[in-house]
Amino acid sequence: MTVPPLLTPPSWHSPAWRGHPIRQQPQWPDPDEVAAVTDRLALLPALTTASDVRSVLAALARVQNREAFVLQGGDCAEPLGPTAVTGARDKHRVLGAVAERVSTCLDLPVVTIGRLAGQFAKPRSSAVEEVAGRRLPVFRGLTVNGPRPHEDDRTPDPYRMLSGYYTARNVLRELAALAHGTASAFAPQTWDPAAAREVAWNRREEAAPDGSLRSLVQGYGQTRWTEDGGWRHTGLWTSHEALLLDYESPLTRQDPVTGEWFLLSTHVPWIGDRTRHVGDAHVEFLAGIANPVAVKIGPGAEPAEIVRLCRRLDPYRRPGRLTLICRLGARGLRERLPALVTAVRRAGHPVVWMSDPMHGNTTTTATGVKTRHLKDMLDEVTDFFDVLRGMGEWPGGVHLEAAAAEVTECVGGTRVARESDLGEAYESLCDPRLNNEQLMTMADMVAKLAV
Ligand code: PEP
Ligand code: MN
Repeated sequence: MTVPPLLTPPSWHSPAWRGHPIRQQPQWPDPDEVAAVTDRLALLPALTTASDVRSVLAALARVQNREAFVLQGGDCAEPLGPTAVTGARDKHRVLGAVAERVSTCLDLPVVTIGRLAGQFAKPRSSAVEEVAGRRLPVFRGLTVNGPRPHEDDRTPDPYRMLSGYYTARNVLRELAALAHGTASAFAPQTWDPAAAREVAWNRREEAAPDGSLRSLVQGYGQTRWTEDGGWRHTGLWTSHEALLLDYESPLTRQDPVTGEWFLLSTHVPWIGDRTRHVGDAHVEFLAGIANPVAVKIGPGAEPAEIVRLCRRLDPYRRPGRLTLICRLGARGLRERLPALVTAVRRAGHPVVWMSDPMHGNTTTTATGVKTRHLKDMLDEVTDFFDVLRGMGEWPGGVHLEAAAAEVTECVGGTRVARESDLGEAYESLCDPRLNNEQLMTMADMVAKLAV
């Protein structure tokens, strides 16, 4: 057996992204506070393990080889604290149900990945917004600032990153408990940013003094391939947008045996459509880690640019390493996707193609409510399958924002028949999510298209 080349040269090190142009970062008021938090994060135990990350890489290689399908979903922006833990429990149940449904129709395993245990920081189209005549920093997710339109809440606070770490740790413990069928591992924790300040200095005993790969949890959420070639679904792998590099960078750890660097804040990090420029910090950061990585591709993406991105992120053309998540919009996909597929195929990169039918279909109602219409999302998924099938490629999966609750954030179905119904239960911290009914309609459509 030939040993594949290492994904990252051992000479790489996690701050290698520094010095490259970086977008979408908060203006932290005090650099000393940021340094205190990042130093602390670097000493805390990893949240995932290199061996689990390698398992997800192998699972995604099977997707790329048409032997499995991916379902990725969750909130646009995750809450902090106990709500995140109960939210993860609900996502585990609902995404599990969708995965089972799709899997039964396809007769293939569905690799199920939550947008959770770290899906906090958000890229925004503007750095400031005007509220009641005052200019305020925009809300950038709960590991940066608060959503309340007030200076106190909107001023970025780096200690929120520690709250995010402890929240993610408890979410992962909960997922592990669910996957292993044990009692809830829920434990009260330090999610309050003020308490996180205290804990930063008083809980030294939790530190892994060697900054090593030691993790508190492992072996949760997975689609396990059994020895007889079958598979068993046990739960959720985790993913989030690797946006806030002050949070991600200290959670990279080096495998002492192979020298590879792993991002152990999650299993599958992705970067967004706004931060995927070759030469920029986010691409340099992903280039250096050995995890399977994903990139969102929006309507502005040029084929040549995406090929350069593939070359930087997947130089060894390794199956499972790179997923391209298309969010081209129902009205743009047929025109744009074929050229992207042709270019990537010619360049020889074995990517997983996924569809995010959410982010290219966001609209604002006449009364200023951000929403999405289920019909547009179903249309985009339909076209995605159609185009890829027509080109002889495997439509590898879907990426959804879904609430696991009866929210009224997207239009479609019986509960939100029209835009005027959106006010009833609009709870998202950021983008509008599918409710259960809408998610099941989407699941049925995906199951039908995938066979
Ligand atoms: C998101 O996934 O919430 C997001 C901001 O996506 P994109 O980068 O595709 O806009
Ligand atoms: Mn979103």
